[in-house]
Amino acid sequence: MNKIKSVKGMNDILPNESYIWLWLENKLTNWLSSYGYKNIRTPIIEDSSLFLRSIGEVTDIVEKELYIFTDRLNGDTLALRPEGTAGCTRSIIEHNLLYNSIQKLWYIGQMFRHERPQKGRYRQFHQLGVEVFGLMTHNIDVELILMVEDLFKQLCLQEIELQINCLGDINERNIYKQNLVEYFERYKSCLDEDSLKRLYKNPLRILDSKNEKMMDLISNAPKLINFLSDNSLSFYQRLKDTLSSLNIKFIENLYLVRGLDYYNLTVFEWVSTKLGAQSTIAAGGRYDLLIEHLGGKKNYAVGFAIGIERLILELSAQEKLPEEKNSDIFIINFGEKTDIQAFNFAIKLRQVGFKVEQNFSDLSLKSLLKKADSLGYKFVIIIGETELSTETVVLKNMKTTHQHIIKNSELINFITNNYNEEK
Ligand code: ATP
Ligand code: MG
Repeated sequence: MNKIKSVKGMNDILPNESYIWLWLENKLTNWLSSYGYKNIRTPIIEDSSLFLRSIGEVTDIVEKELYIFTDRLNGDTLALRPEGTAGCTRSIIEHNLLYNSIQKLWYIGQMFRHERPQKGRYRQFHQLGVEVFGLMTHNIDVELILMVEDLFKQLCLQEIELQINCLGDINERNIYKQNLVEYFERYKSCLDEDSLKRLYKNPLRILDSKNEKMMDLISNAPKLINFLSDNSLSFYQRLKDTLSSLNIKFIENLYLVRGLDYYNLTVFEWVSTKLGAQSTIAAGGRYDLLIEHLGGKKNYAVGFAIGIERLILELSAQEKLPEEKNSDIFIINFGEKTDIQAFNFAIKLRQVGFKVEQNFSDLSLKSLLKKADSLGYKFVIIIGETELSTETVVLKNMKTTHQHIIKNSELINFITNNYNEEK
């Protein structure tokens, strides 16, 4: 029979890598709770109309990347979530979580986009999302930016550039869009296929083009900043002043747009100077229109998402990944009569906080000791029938290679004292 393989672009995370994920997830949850953010878990599958309505029909995500399918049991049209904001917003509206309150939320999980798989771009990937609902002040935008800067510092990452821009409100953007369309119409023959398609449907997205040949045309296009009202400009200025006062370095990128209509005012992205084409590690902004757009009562919202695979690639490129930590103690016993003794020591040692593994294979002592050495155990306990009858064990300190015969009653204390000394 031929083997069944995983779906293209959807990767297994194997044990030699999963320890990195556990280490990172632990760091992330501690970091988020130190800012008072609460976890929310929404389904991976939603009604497809949620994404069509929130992300918009003229976006790469919906046009090309969304996994939509019909539930053959009842005919419902469903979709695998391509991002987390829509589901999170749907959930807080559905459960009325904004009634007289503010929500500061986070989630982490799989997202799905039918893209061409390459380094840093997969069909199943993971995002950490942070969303704040109910606050209209530049200070919460600052807090989100500051948090991510803090995370990168905690992970010892450098050379990640923060880019910011201000998108104004929907009216300002509509006037700008008209100007932009008029400008690109004049150079219609120079537009690539993607840009031509976007010209009337979503012209802002042309600015987001990754096609080098379009760069000249884009850099001479009208700038959104020249169409912003005093209100928007003052919000943006306060954001920039606060960031500067907090010594947070940023670059203003006038072409930074989120292609989605619901974004307004602040947008930001963190771009690696190392990762090449898949260089955006995290991105976010304000989306004050979305709650109303999804049927809730008008309210404010701002958030960001970090691509976990790209964060791990960056950690790896900057050599900031931890070494895998194995167990402390390995117990090897010979002869059926010693089984219970081996189990009992393992139980007791775990109770006092050690990581303990038992040998269940029938390899020779020599090869087991070799394996124990390569796996980095600190101590190996050997129990044979002689040890059982004399109420002792053989304890091997793998670092010093010393071997001791220790009385059963003294084993735990001996290991505890010697283990701590070594640390
Ligand atoms: P890109 O321009 O690289 O396609 P995007 O604008 O589509 O990114 P967002 O929708 O803003 O990305 O998602 C936030 C983050 O999620 C990205 O900055 C990136 O780190 C990560 N991300 C997005 N799509 C993928 C993917 N297919 N595979 C891996 N990570 C992804
Ligand atoms: Mg994309």
